[in-house]
Amino acid sequence: MIEIKSRGQLEAMRAAGLVVARTLALLASHAKAGVSTGELDELAEQSIRDAGAIPSFKGYHGFPASICASVNEQVVHGIPSRTQVLAEGDLISIDCGAILDGWHGDSAITLPVGEVTDAELKLSEATRASMLAGIEAAVAGGRLGDISFAIESATILAGEEHGIEYGIVEGYGGHGIGTKMHMDPFLPNHGKPGKGPRLKVGMAIAIEPMLTLGTERTVELDDGWTVITADGSRAAHWEHSVAITDDGPWVLTALDD
Ligand code: MG
Ligand code: MG
Repeated sequence: MIEIKSRGQLEAMRAAGLVVARTLALLASHAKAGVSTGELDELAEQSIRDAGAIPSFKGYHGFPASICASVNEQVVHGIPSRTQVLAEGDLISIDCGAILDGWHGDSAITLPVGEVTDAELKLSEATRASMLAGIEAAVAGGRLGDISFAIESATILAGEEHGIEYGIVEGYGGHGIGTKMHMDPFLPNHGKPGKGPRLKVGMAIAIEPMLTLGTERTVELDDGWTVITADGSRAAHWEHSVAITDDGPWVLTALDD
């Protein structure tokens, strides 16, 4: 069952999404060399609570923080820490979620810390472009597989343009979102068009490609959370929560409309 939201409920989700968007914008301005991911986490929790919202990650299956901070070969679910200090040349992805009035927002960005390599910048660009392609395919009347196919196609296209073969991380993907963070349906980051559930007005989906400069395979660290690339290659992650409306996709976690 895929949850269908009324217009009013989507507006409530937009309010939650804005809390996430503003928090990520704040973190982007602070993610500099010398700053720890633990400090970013504290800023995030303060920003979310100041907005009257609840950090959805904190306590989620025991996760200890309000953001996931995944640096370099870490793909997703990195645990922020006071001892993990950002350095020039790092590539960090920050994933953030908030609950406002019972509605969830979930979004992620990837940021270079100072100067990173051209390949790393392109990796982040390709991941963001894949997300945007997926968002464009989130239209009523289509199928879930159309979104997966759009993400995969944009990844391949970016790879051809950049002369880099990007790995599409296996086993992780997007998800329905609304009264819970993770809901049906699961959204793979590759797939065939015309397959899967029909997309309907009122659905909301978190679209979140994860790409690497190498393998699509990952390993989970002993901390039970941090997912790293199996070959140590760097990874990027971009995510928006998106609603399907009569007027097309509505990016609920964008900073502006
Ligand atoms: Mg997320
Ligand atoms: Mg998500």
